[in-house]
Amino acid sequence: MGSTERILVALFRQESHSFVPGATTLADFERFGIPTGSDVLRRAGNREIDGYRDAAEEFGVELVPALDAKAQSGPPLDDATFEHLAGRVCDAISLNRDRIDGVMLGLHGAMVTDSLDDAEGEVLARARAIVGPDIPIATTLDLHTHMTRRMGETADILAGYQTCPHVDLRRTGEVAMRTLIRTIRGEVEPVVSQRKVRMMTGAETHDDRRFPNREVIAALHEAERDPRVLAASVFCTQPWLDISELGWTVVIVTDRDPDLGRSLADEIAMKAWSLRDHYLVKKTDVHEAIDTALASDGVFALSEGSDSTTAGGLGDGNLLLKALLDRGVDVPCLLMVSDPAAAAACAQAGVGARVTTPLGGSANPAFYSPVEVTGTVATLTDGRYMNHYGGIRAVDMGPTALLQVGSISIMVTTHRPPMVDYEAYLSVGADPREMRIVQPKSAGAYLEYYEQIATCIDLDVPGPSGSDLTALPFKRIERPLWPWDPDLQDPW
Ligand SMILES: [Zn+2]
Repeated sequence: MGSTERILVALFRQESHSFVPGATTLADFERFGIPTGSDVLRRAGNREIDGYRDAAEEFGVELVPALDAKAQSGPPLDDATFEHLAGRVCDAISLNRDRIDGVMLGLHGAMVTDSLDDAEGEVLARARAIVGPDIPIATTLDLHTHMTRRMGETADILAGYQTCPHVDLRRTGEVAMRTLIRTIRGEVEPVVSQRKVRMMTGAETHDDRRFPNREVIAALHEAERDPRVLAASVFCTQPWLDISELGWTVVIVTDRDPDLGRSLADEIAMKAWSLRDHYLVKKTDVHEAIDTALASDGVFALSEGSDSTTAGGLGDGNLLLKALLDRGVDVPCLLMVSDPAAAAACAQAGVGARVTTPLGGSANPAFYSPVEVTGTVATLTDGRYMNHYGGIRAVDMGPTALLQVGSISIMVTTHRPPMVDYEAYLSVGADPREMRIVQPKSAGAYLEYYEQIATCIDLDVPGPSGSDLTALPFKRIERPLWPWDPDLQDPW
């Protein structure tokens, strides 16, 4: 028996968005702490790291932790931030080059920088340059990965989430780590096959539990039943990236069977293509949605998905707020707006004070404009809470106020939190279950949480993460691409 194998583990994750101004900076990563050393390996319940550890412990492999850098979805990284963090990943690989047998990179897959459309391909290429061809590299990726040819040619093993909302992070980590260990031990020889499909779709229809995406995900599960298939993934892609090489991609990793990989990738890609018309998102006019909510009892979740903070929206969208104010709605409502200046004004005024402030709409003026509100500061918090979406993580919204404007409670945050679940609301003492109208800001994934407490309606309001992709200011995508080219016949 040989000595224990060692696998270096580094995570570097952010999902970028082309239609929000500004840049994601090092401070945005530092707000999540950037754990290093043994802190990287701390279990989080249902994250990739738990899956990495499950497989490593089962096979008796030692994990060598480097760092875990993540930031909330948002604008592209500035180059200095990317170079700093990619540099730290590469320094760790270089430092351990002679004592490791494999590299595991936890990436998102849709990171863009000022200069790079394919940031993950760049990280993988730099890692490859350090370790050479003989040390295998595996990566775990989000379902919304912008998959590139270079990523597929550089990594030995790629495994993506097969769920949306993303709840199989641990499974994904376990599959990738298990395959990496078996590769190191010479039990398998992974070959990556990928098929790009000339289609893009809004995120609301990526739900793996519903038609049509249920059919595509089922095909992945079916493919994985074959022992020659090591990992099967479909990357539905972050829809709001204005870059070349955009499109859905199916990736099949086989044990030295590229013919099988290619035919499965083509078959699953064709299944997605044949269902394309069902991926068009239908939403409800905001006033129609309010009418529906007012016409009956119970809680209604009206999601402003076009400002989804887990898709990169800045959280400053205020179109539901504006509609409720315009109509003088007087039932209990709970909304969220990220606006650092308004949050500071509330904090300065103090609990119980009356505040008049412009709210929202200033961060992304291409889509929104500020709405002036006058209300009473009900609560003030430091904005820190634990979030359980896809495993446990600490969230820091910065100084946060609950501003009461008539019957409307507005959570005013300094930094945008995930608005998929309602833990942010609970953290400021507001309970959606006691409201009539509550606002998620999520393109689909919120259903996992809100369907249990509310009737859910997707609002048809403009915003950077709108689901009618052809209405957004894309300039750099490669055509033909469906649905921009609705009559496209050949999806390859
Ligand atoms: Zn995603």
